[in-house]
Amino acid sequence: MSIPFKSEGRFVQKIEATPLVEVRLASTETGIWCKLEFLNPSGSTKDRIARYMVEKAWRNGRIEAGGTVIEASSGSTSIALAMTCAQMGLEFIAVMPEGVSRERQLMIRAYGGEVILVPPDEGIHGALRKAEEIAGETGAYYTRQFENPDNAEAHRVWTGQEILKQIPGGTVNGIVSGVGTGGTIVGLYSAFEEAGCEITPFAARPVRGSALQELECCSFSPCVPGVVEESVSKLYRDADLNGLIEIDISDDLVFDTARQLIRQGFPVGPSSGLNYAAALEAQKKMGPEARIVTVLPDRMERYFSTELFDSMNGGS
Ligand code: PMP
Repeated sequence: MSIPFKSEGRFVQKIEATPLVEVRLASTETGIWCKLEFLNPSGSTKDRIARYMVEKAWRNGRIEAGGTVIEASSGSTSIALAMTCAQMGLEFIAVMPEGVSRERQLMIRAYGGEVILVPPDEGIHGALRKAEEIAGETGAYYTRQFENPDNAEAHRVWTGQEILKQIPGGTVNGIVSGVGTGGTIVGLYSAFEEAGCEITPFAARPVRGSALQELECCSFSPCVPGVVEESVSKLYRDADLNGLIEIDISDDLVFDTARQLIRQGFPVGPSSGLNYAAALEAQKKMGPEARIVTVLPDRMERYFSTELFDSMNGGS
């Protein structure tokens, strides 16, 4: 599906359907259906929400030609918004905590976006505050991905419908996703539920270390960029995910699974490792006949300077 957009003669790259493929890491595994979202133009699933949120705002008259969009995101959403704004002739400002990888900042700047950094100890909350402040002062359109219903809506009416067309039998039994804004899990769950699927949602959570049994509560790991403690997102907190099951995955397993996916030719980042590992756990709970769908959200290139590539960085 492509959303038509009138852009005064400007070329706007279509966001085509991404493949849904059954991925097996071991011959003993039953496949997990993976939506290859890293194949989107800017390299992540966030191209969809960026286009959907900005276009909706444009249609509603919230943004005008040459206007400015702002978002607090250190990750894929900022990169996707920077690309969307480049295509639509808009300005873009990304607010993020210092310490975000150079690759990410460069991608945003390359699309013509501006990067504003807040002190690292202020984290995502500091970035959210700063974005609010700038939006208030300048009248920039603040996409507010953590509460904007159009975020989940993009996945409900778009990604979800693609999956329903692609999956054999047209039915899904389990949807597994790490939660950043929650847009993916909330939107896909709604799409599948509305289509009449008997669907169980699984939220994948990265936790520190390798020995899960030794971990206490609140052991959320910050090692998987894009996936945050769920409390950050109003969109997720307010959602109605019936029968939600949380699956904790150690960050060692997250990285190991991401590396295995890459070795099989899927050039993905850490959150894909999280999602795939959690999908295998979901399958254990639901049985081999269940059709489990997950998302491989973004590409590996934006993680060259992170732990994912430690063993290949000329180090150990
Ligand atoms: N993976 C990556 C790389 C992300 O950037 C994000 C979101 N920031 C997610 C997963 C989680 O997706 P969502 O925001 O839809 O919950």
